Amino acid sequence: MAIKHIGVYPGTFDPVTRGHLDIIERGLRLFDLLIVAVAESQSKAPLFDAEERLEILRAELKGYKNIKVESFDCLLIDYMRQKQATTVLRGLRVISDFEYEFQMALINRKLDPSIETVFMMTGESYASLSSRFIKEIARLGGDLDAFVTPNVAKRLKDKYGLSRKRQKGALK
Ligand code: ADP
Repeated sequence: MAIKHIGVYPGTFDPVTRGHLDIIERGLRLFDLLIVAVAESQSKAPLFDAEERLEILRAELKGYKNIKVESFDCLLIDYMRQKQATTVLRGLRVISDFEYEFQMALINRKLDPSIETVFMMTGESYASLSSRFIKEIARLGGDLDAFVTPNVAKRLKDKYGLSRKRQKGALK
C-alpha cells in the first residue's frame, strides 16, 4: 500500500475564520490527508469550548473527503506520532507571527527531528484577520461577513446574545 503523506494543521480555531479556511484549502494540495487538529488551549480561555470548535469546523469542512477534524490535548509531537503524520502546517499573516511560529517550529524540531513544519502565506485579503479581533467585532455587534462564514457568524451572535442576556439577568 502506498505510504500516505499526512499533514496536521493545529490551532485553537476560536472560532475558525475565512483565513484559516484559506490555509486549509490551499494546504490540502500538499497532503493525501490533512488533519485539522483543535487544541484544547485552556490557558487561552477560549470563547467556544473544544467540543463547539470541533462541531463548527466539522460543519464547515464536511464536503472534503481528505480532511479529518479532531481535538487533541497533548504535545503536538506526540499527537503527530499517534497519527503517523509527518508535517505540521501553519499559516503566516504578518511579520509579528513569525517569531512565535519560528520558535515553535524549532522546539518541535528539537523534540522530534523527523517532523517538518511548513508555513503557508495567508491569502492577501485575510492578512489582518484573527479570531481575537473577530470576537471583539462580534461582541460589539459589527458585521462579520467578510471575516467568517454565515454559520460561524450566527454562532458568534448566539454566543454574545446569550451572554448579554445572562448579564442582564444577573443585574436584576
Ligand atoms: P494558535 O492558538 O495555535 O495560534 P489560531 O487558531 O490562532 O491558533 O491559529 C492557527 C494557525 O492559523 C496559526 O498558524 C495562525 O498563524 C494561522 N492563522 C490564523 N489566522 C490566519 C489568517 N487570517 N491567515 C493565515 N493564517 C492564519
